[in-house]
Amino acid sequence: MAVYEAAVQTLIDELGRLPGVGPKSAQRIAYYLLRSAPEDANRLARAITDAKARITWCRCCYNFAEGELCTYCRDERRDPALLCVVEEPRDIVAIERTHEFRGRYHVLQGAISPMDGVGPEQLRIKELLRRVGEEGVKEVILATNPNTEGEATALYLTRQLKPLGLRVTRPASGLPVGGDLEYADEVTLGRALEGRRDVDA
Ligand SMILES: [Zn+2]
Repeated sequence: MAVYEAAVQTLIDELGRLPGVGPKSAQRIAYYLLRSAPEDANRLARAITDAKARITWCRCCYNFAEGELCTYCRDERRDPALLCVVEEPRDIVAIERTHEFRGRYHVLQGAISPMDGVGPEQLRIKELLRRVGEEGVKEVILATNPNTEGEATALYLTRQLKPLGLRVTRPASGLPVGGDLEYADEVTLGRALEGRRDVDA
């Protein structure tokens, strides 16, 4: 016997598929949406549809972009010799908040994680290596998260990049170990970027 009307159950199921939303939260959000004014719920639905229709991946760095290139790749004042590699677009936001970095970015769209079936070929690593060859990059900062997957990804990338004769660096220690870049406050993250260290393959 179904507990909810089919449409309510579908809504709960869809919400429950979102990252970080468990069954209880999904029910709570569904109740909230169903109790809210139609225009409020419609605004949310429209925001999702609009973002999906208008936002694509930047064809250069794989950040979010509305159009061909993201705001950072369109900005010609940024130093093309310095490339910061991150896992997700939200990491760019964290780094921008520090005001310490004036180079360009490359978004891997994840990290190597054998447990989740994510290998190098699922990430934007081919594209990174192509950029490094074409854009006159002199230093690559590996700003992957300071956790197991991020460290494994940084190690893999170091082995790919070092033979190309580039300087490869990693933010200095001091970032919360095991966490995500985005949880570091901007002072700590800024210092870690400034004091970045060369890594060996
Ligand atoms: Zn871009």
